Amino acid sequence: MSAAPTRVTGRDRRATLEAVSASLPSRVDYLRLSVTDRCNLRCVYCMPPQGVAPRRHDEILSYEELLAFAETAVASGISKVRVTGGEPLVRKGLVDFIARLAALDGLTDLSLTSNGILLPRYAAGLRAAGLRRVNVSIDSLDARRYGELTRGARLADALAGLDAAFAAGFSPVKVNAVLFSGCEDEVEGFVDLTRRRDVHVRFIEYMPLDRQVAAGHTLVPAGLILERLRRDHAVEPVAGPFGLGPARYYRVPGALGTIGFIAGVSDHFCDRCNRLRLTADGRLKTCLFSAAESELDVRPLIERPDELARALAAAVAGKRFDRTTEAPDAGRAMSQIGG
Ligand code: SAM
Repeated sequence: MSAAPTRVTGRDRRATLEAVSASLPSRVDYLRLSVTDRCNLRCVYCMPPQGVAPRRHDEILSYEELLAFAETAVASGISKVRVTGGEPLVRKGLVDFIARLAALDGLTDLSLTSNGILLPRYAAGLRAAGLRRVNVSIDSLDARRYGELTRGARLADALAGLDAAFAAGFSPVKVNAVLFSGCEDEVEGFVDLTRRRDVHVRFIEYMPLDRQVAAGHTLVPAGLILERLRRDHAVEPVAGPFGLGPARYYRVPGALGTIGFIAGVSDHFCDRCNRLRLTADGRLKTCLFSAAESELDVRPLIERPDELARALAAAVAGKRFDRTTEAPDAGRAMSQIGG
């Protein structure tokens, strides 16, 4: 029988944390932290029609545990954290959690990804808590299509969330749009949005993570959208907004914002990957494609920063940067990983 883990708390914990050295390779500096597997939307490509059975509350990491994990990850070399879900804003107490995360020494960039529906309620509080920037996922600017894609949500609510993000002073504000074949006519609407607002729209290639969910949805290669954009506008490549990622950006003449492309399928960026993911139930994924067996269960290590740091470094040492040809892990829906 193995010995029960010793909890390191208080001053000892702080001392242990201080002894953790930045052991992660400098290229791996970004953590996507999923705070919940629950979502207030049911997007057709993200969840099966029956939804995904949510984990029990005791299976989900507490805010204390998430914070303790983030602390060790930051001490190990992570400098950017994105809070995601499920929908992060459906978890109670998120604003306080953000405030505590924002105060972590060594964290240089804290961001949040949301579908925007609850932003009118929380945007100002999040901004006051120290969050600087948000990404809002809006896949269609056509109310009927948005309703279909989300299985019943209202575009007006997501757009109110976008308004709230601007009103609260987040910068930059990015919009993520996953486009599917048949939705190419959406491009003009998004271009228009960048004319009116200093918003950075990123077209994201749909990644068929779970074939069942994917049925009936085929991706539009980013190149095709760019071609369409170039056909209709004299777009110019531009430097992207703050938040280094795999997107390439363009600006339509006179527009306040930009249009970017994240071509995860047609232009693999595995070799440029800088990220780790922690699922809400405490599994570290070093790759979106990682199979369940290779996930690291961090919960038993959370109270022992030195052991956690060693396990983290070992997991990252095994991270691969060439997985594009593999079959994705169908074990989890994207809503359970955090995108
Ligand atoms: N609820 C939040 C939101 O809507 O942004 C955060 C979680 S959601 C899983 C994060 C992002 O993943 C969204 O922009 C969503 O469109 C994207 N996403 C989900 N499934 C995807 C897939 N199969 N391929 C590409 N992007 C996907």
